Amino acid sequence: MIGDFQALAQAIGRMWRLSDFHRAHWLARGVKENWVPGEPAELEGLPVITKEDLLAAQKRQPPYGGNLCVDPREIAQVHLTTGTSGIGQERYALTAADVHVMGASWARQYQAIGLTPGDVAVLTIPVSFFCAGLSALEGARLHGLVPVLTGVASKDLMLELLVEQRPAYLYGVESLLLQLANLARERGLRFTGLKGVQAVGASPQLLAAASEVYQARVFDVYGCTQAAAKIATTCRLGVAAGTNHFHPEHLFIETRDPASGAPVDEGEAEIILSTTYRAASPVIRFAMRDRVTLVPGGACACGDPLPGFVPGSVGRIDSMLKIRGVNLWPQQVEQILLGYPAVEDFRAQVQRRADGADELLLRVRVQASARAEAAGVAAALESLVRENTMVRPRVVVDNALDDTAGAYKVKRWTDLRRKA
Ligand SMILES: [Zn+2]
Repeated sequence: MIGDFQALAQAIGRMWRLSDFHRAHWLARGVKENWVPGEPAELEGLPVITKEDLLAAQKRQPPYGGNLCVDPREIAQVHLTTGTSGIGQERYALTAADVHVMGASWARQYQAIGLTPGDVAVLTIPVSFFCAGLSALEGARLHGLVPVLTGVASKDLMLELLVEQRPAYLYGVESLLLQLANLARERGLRFTGLKGVQAVGASPQLLAAASEVYQARVFDVYGCTQAAAKIATTCRLGVAAGTNHFHPEHLFIETRDPASGAPVDEGEAEIILSTTYRAASPVIRFAMRDRVTLVPGGACACGDPLPGFVPGSVGRIDSMLKIRGVNLWPQQVEQILLGYPAVEDFRAQVQRRADGADELLLRVRVQASARAEAAGVAAALESLVRENTMVRPRVVVDNALDDTAGAYKVKRWTDLRRKA
């Protein structure tokens, strides 16, 4: 458990008064009216809330589902979730103070990277109704950086900006950062002024590209629209040697055993999240359904006493697939594919063949330099995936995979069996 419990207790008291959503959710599940836990061990007395709960409430009572806890005139910004889960997009309101906290939570990351006021920051995640682009921009402003927003610019223009603006910082989704690195390599470009490259997700392949082409450390960020403030960011050591340390200033973070629900400080954990700062659209005990591998407080070589988790260890609790009786975590396959030097990106599809057997189809895009050996790459990936997961996939090289430069979260997996 990380965070200020007194602030959480106050937030819960406030929810009883102001949030019809939380109030109805708790009363319907047998919580005594106005009950507030007296210590962290009592928190389980309040049932968790899920994405489905929030979406159902917002459908019944649009747009905020009875969870707007301020006067509507105080709303400064509205965010939507990305919708990658396929079940809908929640809406969240923020006051000016909420927006400030969201930006301030980036400051610790910018500080860890060693960025100083006046440094140029190239932000490639489009500023839209998603939290990711907006929060990085707000953070850059608060930290005194000079943001250069590429939006959905072409990769040629992005490379031009990286050369001419001499940025100290580059932020983007992993697949875009890899594509830019490949293009830069082909054109013989090297970047020397970068202090850090920030990715949403970081594979061994990106680490290699970062040390060769970007000549900078890679940093990871973990957040969600429900929190708005970042949940964890990487310390100064970067993802190769460091930890994604939790941010306890504005959030109360419970780390629990995914099977038993008991609080844990090490090993695998599910994160349950509460906002202690958020005025407009707060969440109390939101079940992230993400599992992470914890790093206990004080265990990181950077010296930061805050606990956190191993960068790259985030996986979805509910994403396990069963293929021909074998349990398969999409993360396992991702690590193999994105860790393979010739692979740029992939899409995975689970489908039922005409003969009734389930099939895992992997479409991969390979680097230009490896296109001549496409068949060899496909065969190598087939056996690697089979050896490591016990599922034999069908691998097809498809260099026309849709471009994901404009997307914040790429939906790489589709299970067609669920639609049947
Ligand atoms: Zn650290």
